[in-house]
Amino acid sequence: MAQHSTCLSPFCGYWADRYLATCPRCGRMMRPDDEIVGRGGHVVWCGLILVAAMGGVAWALGPKVLQALTDPLAPAAPRPTVLQAQLAIGLILLMFAGGVAFLLNGIVMVARARPMRWLTLAGISCIVLAALAALGFAATTLA
Ligand SMILES: [Zn+2]
Repeated sequence: MAQHSTCLSPFCGYWADRYLATCPRCGRMMRPDDEIVGRGGHVVWCGLILVAAMGGVAWALGPKVLQALTDPLAPAAPRPTVLQAQLAIGLILLMFAGGVAFLLNGIVMVARARPMRWLTLAGISCIVLAALAALGFAATTLA
């Protein structure tokens, strides 16, 4: 099997059909096929853990949050505001979506020895937006 090299920067993603130690486009380290496949296995596990954890949280808390927001006879306290519920649901869904993106990218990395840059960027974007939702949620509880 011919050796290839991939730049792991999600903003570069340069690929070469030979071994290169550093990326000629951005200067970061290049990784050979076998290392991409190994990292892909780790990315699959990270994605699975995120999907299972956030799916479990959504499954356990979703009905309670919806009931607290829509049932006028639900106990008054602690009752989330609509904004808090939106931020919490957004946080869970973004973490879940990031997990799906990492899971798919890991499968692609194992199968092709090459990541899909848009899946990497999608996963990172979901996690960053989820962190912003968490900060927003924290800000609403402190106010
Ligand atoms: Zn690069």
